[in-house]
Amino acid sequence: MNFLRNHQGYKSLESAAQPQFNPMIQLNLLLFSFLGVFLLRSAAQVLLDRLNIAHLRKHGGSIPEVFQGTVDQEKLQKISAYTVDSARFGILTTLTDQALLLVLLLSGVLPWIQSLANPFGLGVVTGGLLFFALLSLPGFILDIPFSLYGNFVIEARHGFNTKTLRVWVVDLLKGLLLSALLGAPLLALLLFLIQSGGPLWWLWAWALVGLFELLILWLYPVLLAPLFNKFEPLANQDLVRKIADLLGKADLKAKGVFQMDASRRSRHTNAYFTGLGKSKRIVLYDTLLTSHTEEEILAVLAHEAGHWKKWHVPKQVIILEALSLLGFYGVAKILDVPLIYQTFGFSQPVAYVGLFLVTTLFSPLLYFAEPLGAVFSRRFEREADDYTLLLTRDPAPMVKALKRLASDNLSNLTPHPLYAWFYYSHPPLLERIRRLQESLPGPGSTEFLSNPAGAFSAAEHRKRADGISPPGGNPPNPNH
Ligand SMILES: [Zn+2]
Repeated sequence: MNFLRNHQGYKSLESAAQPQFNPMIQLNLLLFSFLGVFLLRSAAQVLLDRLNIAHLRKHGGSIPEVFQGTVDQEKLQKISAYTVDSARFGILTTLTDQALLLVLLLSGVLPWIQSLANPFGLGVVTGGLLFFALLSLPGFILDIPFSLYGNFVIEARHGFNTKTLRVWVVDLLKGLLLSALLGAPLLALLLFLIQSGGPLWWLWAWALVGLFELLILWLYPVLLAPLFNKFEPLANQDLVRKIADLLGKADLKAKGVFQMDASRRSRHTNAYFTGLGKSKRIVLYDTLLTSHTEEEILAVLAHEAGHWKKWHVPKQVIILEALSLLGFYGVAKILDVPLIYQTFGFSQPVAYVGLFLVTTLFSPLLYFAEPLGAVFSRRFEREADDYTLLLTRDPAPMVKALKRLASDNLSNLTPHPLYAWFYYSHPPLLERIRRLQESLPGPGSTEFLSNPAGAFSAAEHRKRADGISPPGGNPPNPNH
Protein backbone atom coordinates (compact mmCIF):
# COMPACT_ATOMS: atom_id res chain seq x y z
CA MET A 1 0.00 0.00 0.00
CA ASN A 2 1.14 3.47 -0.80
CA PHE A 3 0.96 4.92 2.61
CA LEU A 4 3.46 2.38 3.96
CA ARG A 5 6.16 3.88 1.74
CA ASN A 6 5.04 7.38 2.58
CA HIS A 7 5.52 6.64 6.22
CA GLN A 8 8.98 5.30 5.81
CA GLY A 9 9.92 8.41 3.90
CA TYR A 10 8.23 10.59 6.43
CA LYS A 11 9.96 8.97 9.37
CA SER A 12 13.36 10.43 8.54
CA LEU A 13 11.92 13.96 8.48
CA GLU A 14 10.24 13.70 11.85
CA SER A 15 11.35 15.73 14.81
CA ALA A 16 12.06 13.91 18.05
CA ALA A 17 8.75 15.11 19.50
CA GLN A 18 6.80 13.40 16.74
CA PRO A 19 5.64 9.82 17.13
CA GLN A 20 7.44 7.18 15.10
CA PHE A 21 5.19 5.40 12.67
CA ASN A 22 5.10 1.70 12.25
CA PRO A 23 2.00 1.10 10.21
CA MET A 24 1.78 -2.60 10.95
CA ILE A 25 -0.85 -3.84 13.28
CA GLN A 26 0.24 -6.47 15.79
CA LEU A 27 -1.61 -9.73 16.14
CA ASN A 28 -1.57 -10.00 19.91
CA LEU A 29 -3.83 -10.96 22.80
CA LEU A 30 -5.27 -7.43 23.04
CA LEU A 31 -6.32 -7.44 19.38
CA PHE A 32 -7.82 -10.93 19.57
CA SER A 33 -9.70 -10.12 22.77
CA PHE A 34 -11.10 -6.97 21.18
CA LEU A 35 -12.08 -8.85 18.01
CA GLY A 36 -13.66 -11.58 20.14
CA VAL A 37 -15.91 -9.13 22.00
CA PHE A 38 -16.58 -7.11 18.82
CA LEU A 39 -17.77 -10.15 16.87
CA LEU A 40 -19.68 -11.47 19.87
CA ARG A 41 -21.60 -8.19 19.89
CA SER A 42 -22.38 -8.43 16.16
CA ALA A 43 -23.52 -12.03 16.64
CA ALA A 44 -25.72 -11.04 19.61
CA GLN A 45 -27.29 -8.23 17.58
CA VAL A 46 -28.08 -10.49 14.62
CA LEU A 47 -29.30 -13.30 16.86
CA LEU A 48 -31.61 -11.06 18.92
CA ASP A 49 -33.09 -9.61 15.73
CA ARG A 50 -33.67 -13.06 14.24
CA LEU A 51 -35.20 -14.27 17.48
CA ASN A 52 -37.54 -11.30 17.49
CA ILE A 53 -38.60 -11.79 13.86
CA ALA A 54 -39.11 -15.55 14.36
CA HIS A 55 -41.28 -14.75 17.38
CA LEU A 56 -43.27 -12.25 15.32
CA ARG A 57 -43.81 -14.80 12.52
CA LYS A 58 -45.00 -17.36 15.04
CA HIS A 59 -47.27 -15.14 17.17
CA GLY A 60 -47.82 -12.01 15.07
CA GLY A 61 -50.58 -13.56 12.95
CA SER A 62 -53.24 -13.63 15.63
CA ILE A 63 -54.66 -10.54 17.30
CA PRO A 64 -53.86 -10.43 21.04
CA GLU A 65 -57.09 -10.50 23.04
CA VAL A 66 -56.65 -7.01 24.42
CA PHE A 67 -56.28 -5.56 20.90
CA GLN A 68 -59.36 -7.15 19.38
CA GLY A 69 -61.61 -4.42 18.06
CA THR A 70 -58.70 -1.98 17.61
CA VAL A 71 -56.39 -3.92 15.32
CA ASP A 72 -57.64 -6.05 12.42
CA GLN A 73 -55.86 -8.63 10.25
CA GLU A 74 -54.90 -6.01 7.68
CA LYS A 75 -53.31 -3.81 10.33
CA LEU A 76 -51.54 -6.82 11.79
CA GLN A 77 -49.98 -7.54 8.41
CA LYS A 78 -48.86 -3.93 8.12
CA ILE A 79 -47.26 -4.15 11.57
CA SER A 80 -45.40 -7.33 10.61
CA ALA A 81 -44.19 -5.89 7.32
CA TYR A 82 -42.94 -2.68 8.97
CA THR A 83 -41.24 -4.53 11.85
CA VAL A 84 -39.44 -6.93 9.49
CA ASP A 85 -38.41 -4.17 7.07
CA SER A 86 -37.09 -1.94 9.86
CA ALA A 87 -35.23 -4.76 11.57
CA ARG A 88 -33.53 -5.88 8.35
CA PHE A 89 -32.51 -2.38 7.45
CA GLY A 90 -31.36 -1.67 11.01
CA ILE A 91 -29.09 -4.71 11.13
CA LEU A 92 -27.69 -3.95 7.66
CA THR A 93 -26.83 -0.39 8.79
CA THR A 94 -25.24 -1.64 12.00
CA LEU A 95 -23.14 -4.33 10.32
CA THR A 96 -21.95 -1.93 7.60
CA ASP A 97 -20.85 0.59 10.24
CA GLN A 98 -19.04 -2.15 12.12
CA ALA A 99 -17.32 -3.40 8.97
CA LEU A 100 -16.10 0.13 8.23
CA LEU A 101 -14.64 0.45 11.73
CA LEU A 102 -12.85 -2.89 11.41
CA VAL A 103 -11.35 -1.77 8.08
CA LEU A 104 -10.11 1.44 9.72
CA LEU A 105 -8.59 -0.45 12.65
CA LEU A 106 -7.15 -3.51 10.93
CA SER A 107 -5.86 -2.09 7.64
CA GLY A 108 -3.14 -0.18 9.45
CA VAL A 109 -4.50 3.04 7.97
CA LEU A 110 -4.78 4.86 11.32
CA PRO A 111 -1.13 6.02 11.54
CA TRP A 112 -1.48 7.34 8.01
CA ILE A 113 -4.59 9.29 8.98
CA GLN A 114 -2.69 10.67 11.95
CA SER A 115 0.14 11.81 9.69
CA LEU A 116 -2.42 13.49 7.42
CA ALA A 117 -3.95 15.24 10.42
CA ASN A 118 -0.67 16.41 11.80
CA PRO A 119 1.79 17.08 8.99
CA PHE A 120 3.60 20.00 10.63
CA GLY A 121 3.75 18.75 14.19
CA LEU A 122 0.65 20.67 15.25
CA GLY A 123 -0.14 20.46 18.95
CA VAL A 124 -2.28 17.80 20.57
CA VAL A 125 -5.37 19.99 20.40
CA THR A 126 -5.29 21.06 16.74
CA GLY A 127 -3.86 17.74 15.56
CA GLY A 128 -6.52 15.91 17.58
CA LEU A 129 -9.37 17.95 16.13
CA LEU A 130 -8.16 17.23 12.59
CA PHE A 131 -7.60 13.55 13.40
CA PHE A 132 -11.15 13.11 14.71
CA ALA A 133 -12.59 15.11 11.80
CA LEU A 134 -10.80 12.88 9.26
CA LEU A 135 -11.84 9.73 11.13
CA SER A 136 -15.51 10.68 11.20
CA LEU A 137 -15.57 11.55 7.49
CA PRO A 138 -15.98 7.97 6.08
CA GLY A 139 -18.82 7.21 8.52
CA PHE A 140 -20.53 10.50 7.68
CA ILE A 141 -20.38 9.78 3.94
CA LEU A 142 -21.50 6.18 4.39
CA ASP A 143 -24.44 7.31 6.50
CA ILE A 144 -25.87 9.43 3.66
CA PRO A 145 -27.22 6.60 1.45
CA PHE A 146 -28.49 4.77 4.52
CA SER A 147 -30.35 7.81 5.77
CA LEU A 148 -31.82 8.44 2.31
CA TYR A 149 -32.93 4.82 1.98
CA GLY A 150 -34.31 4.72 5.55
CA ASN A 151 -36.40 7.84 5.03
CA PHE A 152 -37.39 7.78 1.38
CA VAL A 153 -37.77 4.02 0.88
CA ILE A 154 -38.44 2.22 4.19
CA GLU A 155 -40.40 4.94 6.04
CA ALA A 156 -42.10 6.05 2.81
CA ARG A 157 -43.12 2.49 1.87
CA HIS A 158 -45.00 2.17 5.16
CA GLY A 159 -46.67 5.55 4.84
CA PHE A 160 -44.68 7.45 7.47
CA ASN A 161 -42.29 9.73 5.60
CA THR A 162 -43.47 13.28 4.89
CA LYS A 163 -39.97 14.72 4.57
CA THR A 164 -38.97 16.39 1.34
CA LEU A 165 -35.44 16.03 0.01
CA ARG A 166 -34.90 19.69 0.83
CA VAL A 167 -35.82 19.19 4.51
CA TRP A 168 -33.51 16.16 4.61
CA VAL A 169 -30.58 18.14 3.19
CA VAL A 170 -31.15 21.12 5.51
CA ASP A 171 -31.35 18.74 8.52
CA LEU A 172 -28.09 17.13 7.49
CA LEU A 173 -26.32 20.49 7.17
CA LYS A 174 -27.72 21.83 10.43
CA GLY A 175 -26.70 18.63 12.22
CA LEU A 176 -23.20 18.87 10.82
CA LEU A 177 -22.86 22.52 11.80
CA LEU A 178 -24.13 21.84 15.33
CA SER A 179 -21.70 18.94 15.81
CA ALA A 180 -18.86 21.20 14.73
CA LEU A 181 -19.95 24.16 16.87
CA LEU A 182 -20.65 22.13 19.99
CA GLY A 183 -18.42 19.08 19.59
CA ALA A 184 -15.18 20.71 18.46
CA PRO A 185 -14.73 23.09 21.45
CA LEU A 186 -15.56 20.26 23.87
CA LEU A 187 -13.08 17.90 22.24
CA ALA A 188 -10.44 20.66 22.20
CA LEU A 189 -10.89 21.28 25.94
CA LEU A 190 -10.82 17.56 26.66
CA LEU A 191 -7.55 17.11 24.75
CA PHE A 192 -6.08 20.16 26.48
CA LEU A 193 -6.92 18.61 29.87
CA ILE A 194 -5.40 15.24 28.93
CA GLN A 195 -2.23 17.02 27.90
CA SER A 196 -1.96 19.64 30.65
CA GLY A 197 -4.39 18.65 33.40
CA GLY A 198 -1.90 16.67 35.52
CA PRO A 199 -2.54 13.24 37.02
CA LEU A 200 -6.13 14.15 37.91
CA TRP A 201 -7.02 15.25 34.35
CA TRP A 202 -9.74 12.59 34.19
CA LEU A 203 -11.53 14.19 37.15
CA TRP A 204 -11.49 17.68 35.55
CA ALA A 205 -12.49 16.19 32.19
CA TRP A 206 -15.40 14.34 33.79
CA ALA A 207 -16.57 17.56 35.47
CA LEU A 208 -16.20 19.50 32.21
CA VAL A 209 -18.12 16.97 30.12
CA GLY A 210 -20.76 16.68 32.85
CA LEU A 211 -21.28 20.46 32.91
CA PHE A 212 -21.42 20.51 29.12
CA GLU A 213 -24.12 17.82 29.14
CA LEU A 214 -26.15 19.77 31.69
CA LEU A 215 -25.81 22.87 29.53
CA ILE A 216 -27.03 20.97 26.45
CA LEU A 217 -29.92 19.45 28.37
CA TRP A 218 -30.90 22.93 29.52
CA LEU A 219 -30.48 24.51 26.09
CA TYR A 220 -31.96 21.68 24.04
CA PRO A 221 -35.65 22.61 24.34
CA VAL A 222 -35.18 26.36 24.04
CA LEU A 223 -32.30 26.70 21.59
CA LEU A 224 -31.40 23.46 19.79
CA ALA A 225 -34.72 21.71 19.14
CA PRO A 226 -36.22 24.95 17.69
CA LEU A 227 -33.50 24.86 15.02
CA PHE A 228 -35.29 21.82 13.58
CA ASN A 229 -38.94 22.31 14.54
CA LYS A 230 -41.47 24.96 15.38
CA PHE A 231 -42.71 24.88 18.98
CA GLU A 232 -45.79 26.84 19.91
CA PRO A 233 -48.44 26.90 22.64
CA LEU A 234 -51.39 24.61 21.92
CA ALA A 235 -53.92 26.15 19.57
CA ASN A 236 -57.00 24.44 21.05
CA GLN A 237 -58.04 26.76 23.93
CA ASP A 238 -60.50 24.27 25.36
CA LEU A 239 -57.72 21.69 25.59
CA VAL A 240 -55.37 24.31 27.10
CA ARG A 241 -57.87 24.91 29.91
CA LYS A 242 -58.24 21.17 30.61
CA ILE A 243 -54.47 20.76 30.59
CA ALA A 244 -54.11 23.62 33.07
CA ASP A 245 -56.63 21.87 35.36
CA LEU A 246 -54.84 18.56 35.10
CA LEU A 247 -51.35 19.99 35.61
CA GLY A 248 -52.69 22.15 38.46
CA LYS A 249 -53.42 18.91 40.32
CA ALA A 250 -49.74 18.05 39.95
CA ASP A 251 -48.57 21.56 40.92
CA LEU A 252 -47.06 22.02 37.46
CA LYS A 253 -47.32 25.03 35.18
CA ALA A 254 -49.32 24.59 31.99
CA LYS A 255 -47.13 27.09 30.15
CA GLY A 256 -44.56 24.30 29.87
CA VAL A 257 -46.71 22.47 27.29
CA PHE A 258 -45.95 22.90 23.57
CA GLN A 259 -47.02 21.44 20.28
CA MET A 260 -44.39 20.61 17.67
CA ASP A 261 -44.73 20.47 13.87
CA ALA A 262 -43.50 16.86 13.67
CA SER A 263 -45.71 16.31 10.62
CA ARG A 264 -43.21 18.08 8.37
CA ARG A 265 -40.95 15.04 8.66
CA SER A 266 -43.06 12.03 9.57
CA ARG A 267 -46.53 10.73 10.41
CA HIS A 268 -45.25 9.00 13.55
CA THR A 269 -47.00 10.21 16.70
CA ASN A 270 -45.23 10.91 19.97
CA ALA A 271 -44.87 13.09 23.04
CA TYR A 272 -41.92 13.73 25.30
CA PHE A 273 -40.70 15.52 28.38
CA THR A 274 -37.33 17.25 28.35
CA GLY A 275 -35.24 20.06 29.79
CA LEU A 276 -33.83 21.20 33.11
CA GLY A 277 -34.76 24.08 35.41
CA LYS A 278 -36.75 26.74 33.62
CA SER A 279 -36.41 24.99 30.27
CA LYS A 280 -38.49 21.98 31.39
CA ARG A 281 -41.35 21.27 29.02
CA ILE A 282 -43.78 18.68 27.72
CA VAL A 283 -43.88 18.46 23.93
CA LEU A 284 -46.81 16.95 22.02
CA TYR A 285 -46.40 16.12 18.33
CA ASP A 286 -49.02 17.76 16.12
CA THR A 287 -49.58 14.29 14.64
CA LEU A 288 -50.57 13.04 18.10
CA LEU A 289 -52.91 15.99 18.63
CA THR A 290 -54.79 15.32 15.40
CA SER A 291 -55.08 11.56 15.79
CA HIS A 292 -56.03 11.30 19.50
CA THR A 293 -59.16 12.30 21.39
CA GLU A 294 -58.97 14.97 24.10
CA GLU A 295 -59.13 12.48 26.96
CA GLU A 296 -56.34 10.42 25.38
CA ILE A 297 -54.18 13.52 24.96
CA LEU A 298 -54.77 14.39 28.61
CA ALA A 299 -53.73 10.85 29.62
CA VAL A 300 -50.51 11.10 27.59
CA LEU A 301 -49.91 14.51 29.17
CA ALA A 302 -50.43 13.06 32.66
CA HIS A 303 -47.83 10.39 31.85
CA GLU A 304 -45.33 13.09 30.80
CA ALA A 305 -46.20 15.06 33.94
CA GLY A 306 -45.23 11.89 35.84
CA HIS A 307 -41.71 12.05 34.34
CA TRP A 308 -41.56 15.71 35.36
CA LYS A 309 -42.93 15.18 38.86
CA LYS A 310 -40.79 12.11 39.60
CA TRP A 311 -37.56 13.91 38.65
CA HIS A 312 -36.70 11.34 35.99
CA VAL A 313 -34.39 13.61 34.00
CA PRO A 314 -32.22 14.61 37.01
CA LYS A 315 -32.18 10.98 38.21
CA GLN A 316 -31.06 9.84 34.77
CA VAL A 317 -28.34 12.51 34.75
CA ILE A 318 -27.03 11.38 38.17
CA ILE A 319 -26.88 7.72 37.09
CA LEU A 320 -25.13 8.57 33.82
CA GLU A 321 -22.64 10.92 35.51
CA ALA A 322 -21.70 8.26 38.06
CA LEU A 323 -21.03 5.80 35.23
CA SER A 324 -19.18 8.48 33.29
CA LEU A 325 -16.84 9.08 36.27
CA LEU A 326 -15.96 5.38 36.24
CA GLY A 327 -15.42 5.60 32.48
CA PHE A 328 -13.05 8.56 32.68
CA TYR A 329 -11.07 6.92 35.48
CA GLY A 330 -10.77 3.76 33.39
CA VAL A 331 -9.64 5.67 30.29
CA ALA A 332 -7.00 7.53 32.35
CA LYS A 333 -5.65 4.26 33.76
CA ILE A 334 -5.04 2.69 30.37
CA LEU A 335 -4.34 5.69 28.16
CA ASP A 336 -0.58 5.37 28.70
CA VAL A 337 -0.32 1.63 28.09
CA PRO A 338 2.09 1.34 25.11
CA LEU A 339 0.57 -1.95 23.92
CA ILE A 340 -2.63 -0.18 22.82
CA TYR A 341 -0.67 2.05 20.44
CA GLN A 342 1.73 -0.64 19.24
CA THR A 343 -1.16 -2.95 18.40
CA PHE A 344 -2.51 -0.48 15.85
CA GLY A 345 0.82 0.59 14.35
CA PHE A 346 1.74 3.57 16.55
CA SER A 347 5.10 3.43 18.24
CA GLN A 348 4.43 6.19 20.75
CA PRO A 349 1.40 7.21 22.82
CA VAL A 350 -0.37 10.31 21.47
CA ALA A 351 -3.26 11.67 23.56
CA TYR A 352 -5.88 11.95 20.84
CA VAL A 353 -4.98 8.62 19.23
CA GLY A 354 -5.24 7.06 22.69
CA LEU A 355 -8.62 8.65 23.32
CA PHE A 356 -9.92 7.22 20.05
CA LEU A 357 -8.39 3.75 20.54
CA VAL A 358 -9.43 3.29 24.17
CA THR A 359 -13.04 4.40 23.58
CA THR A 360 -13.23 2.27 20.42
CA LEU A 361 -11.77 -0.81 22.11
CA PHE A 362 -14.26 -0.59 24.98
CA SER A 363 -17.41 0.34 23.08
CA PRO A 364 -18.37 -3.28 22.17
CA LEU A 365 -18.36 -4.09 25.88
CA LEU A 366 -20.79 -1.24 26.56
CA TYR A 367 -23.36 -2.95 24.34
CA PHE A 368 -23.68 -5.72 26.89
CA ALA A 369 -24.44 -3.13 29.58
CA GLU A 370 -27.36 -1.72 27.54
CA PRO A 371 -30.02 -3.83 29.29
CA LEU A 372 -29.07 -2.07 32.54
CA GLY A 373 -30.12 1.27 31.07
CA ALA A 374 -33.26 -0.29 29.61
CA VAL A 375 -34.22 -1.73 33.01
CA PHE A 376 -33.93 1.74 34.59
CA SER A 377 -35.85 3.34 31.73
CA ARG A 378 -38.74 0.86 31.97
CA ARG A 379 -38.87 1.45 35.71
CA PHE A 380 -39.30 5.18 35.08
CA GLU A 381 -42.02 4.44 32.49
CA ARG A 382 -43.95 2.34 35.00
CA GLU A 383 -43.68 5.15 37.54
CA ALA A 384 -45.01 7.63 34.95
CA ASP A 385 -47.91 5.27 34.13
CA ASP A 386 -48.67 5.00 37.85
CA TYR A 387 -48.66 8.77 38.06
CA THR A 388 -51.14 8.95 35.16
CA LEU A 389 -53.55 6.88 37.22
CA LEU A 390 -52.96 9.06 40.26
CA LEU A 391 -53.88 12.17 38.25
CA THR A 392 -56.70 10.84 36.08
CA ARG A 393 -58.06 8.14 38.47
CA ASP A 394 -59.06 6.15 35.39
CA PRO A 395 -56.93 3.76 33.33
CA ALA A 396 -59.29 3.71 30.34
CA PRO A 397 -58.09 6.88 28.51
CA MET A 398 -54.42 5.93 28.89
CA VAL A 399 -55.08 2.41 27.63
CA LYS A 400 -56.97 3.85 24.65
CA ALA A 401 -54.11 6.26 23.98
CA LEU A 402 -51.57 3.42 24.10
CA LYS A 403 -53.65 1.34 21.68
CA ARG A 404 -53.94 4.21 19.26
CA LEU A 405 -50.21 4.95 19.50
CA ALA A 406 -49.47 1.31 18.73
CA SER A 407 -51.82 1.23 15.79
CA ASP A 408 -50.69 4.60 14.34
CA ASN A 409 -46.99 3.76 14.66
CA LEU A 410 -47.29 0.09 13.57
CA SER A 411 -45.62 -1.07 16.80
CA ASN A 412 -44.73 -4.70 17.20
CA LEU A 413 -47.35 -6.16 19.54
CA THR A 414 -45.49 -9.41 20.16
CA PRO A 415 -41.77 -8.76 20.71
CA HIS A 416 -39.63 -11.66 21.92
CA PRO A 417 -39.29 -11.32 25.73
CA LEU A 418 -35.47 -11.43 25.59
CA TYR A 419 -35.39 -8.80 22.82
CA ALA A 420 -37.73 -6.54 24.79
CA TRP A 421 -35.69 -7.02 27.97
CA PHE A 422 -32.47 -6.14 26.14
CA TYR A 423 -33.57 -3.11 24.14
CA TYR A 424 -36.97 -1.74 25.09
CA SER A 425 -36.99 1.62 26.82
CA HIS A 426 -40.70 1.09 27.57
CA PRO A 427 -42.35 -2.08 28.89
CA PRO A 428 -43.98 -4.03 26.02
CA LEU A 429 -47.48 -2.80 25.23
CA LEU A 430 -49.45 -5.75 26.48
CA GLU A 431 -47.63 -5.62 29.79
CA ARG A 432 -48.28 -1.88 30.14
CA ILE A 433 -51.95 -2.19 29.36
CA ARG A 434 -52.39 -5.13 31.69
CA ARG A 435 -50.63 -3.24 34.46
CA LEU A 436 -52.79 -0.15 33.97
CA GLN A 437 -55.96 -2.21 34.00
CA GLU A 438 -55.00 -4.18 37.08
CA SER A 439 -53.63 -1.39 39.22
CA LEU A 440 -56.71 0.79 39.61
CA PRO A 441 -60.08 -0.61 38.65
CA GLY A 442 -61.74 2.76 39.06
CA PRO A 443 -64.86 4.23 37.48
CA GLY A 444 -64.88 3.98 33.72
CA SER A 445 -62.61 0.98 33.66
CA THR A 446 -65.40 -1.58 33.77
CA GLU A 447 -66.51 -1.07 30.23
CA PHE A 448 -62.96 -1.33 29.14
CA LEU A 449 -62.16 -4.49 31.08
CA SER A 450 -65.23 -6.26 29.78
CA ASN A 451 -64.58 -5.14 26.25
CA PRO A 452 -60.82 -5.31 26.00
CA ALA A 453 -59.35 -3.95 22.85
CA GLY A 454 -56.20 -2.18 21.96
CA ALA A 455 -52.47 -1.61 21.82
CA PHE A 456 -49.57 0.68 22.60
CA SER A 457 -46.44 2.01 20.98
CA ALA A 458 -42.95 2.00 22.29
CA ALA A 459 -42.32 5.04 20.12
CA GLU A 460 -44.41 7.14 22.44
CA HIS A 461 -41.75 9.34 23.94
CA ARG A 462 -38.19 8.37 23.54
CA LYS A 463 -36.81 11.64 24.74
CA ARG A 464 -36.88 12.02 28.47
CA ALA A 465 -33.34 13.26 28.18
CA ASP A 466 -32.62 14.33 24.67
CA GLY A 467 -29.35 14.37 22.85
CA ILE A 468 -28.45 16.94 20.27
CA SER A 469 -28.98 14.76 17.24
CA PRO A 470 -31.35 16.32 14.76
CA PRO A 471 -34.82 14.89 15.06
CA GLY A 472 -34.58 14.14 11.34
CA GLY A 473 -33.73 10.53 10.42
CA ASN A 474 -36.16 8.60 12.55
CA PRO A 475 -34.54 5.30 13.46
CA PRO A 476 -36.68 2.81 11.57
CA ASN A 477 -37.24 0.80 14.73
CA PRO A 478 -38.35 3.15 17.49
CA ASN A 479 -37.72 0.54 20.11
CA HIS A 480 -33.96 0.82 19.89
ZN1 LIG B 1 -42.75 7.93 29.34
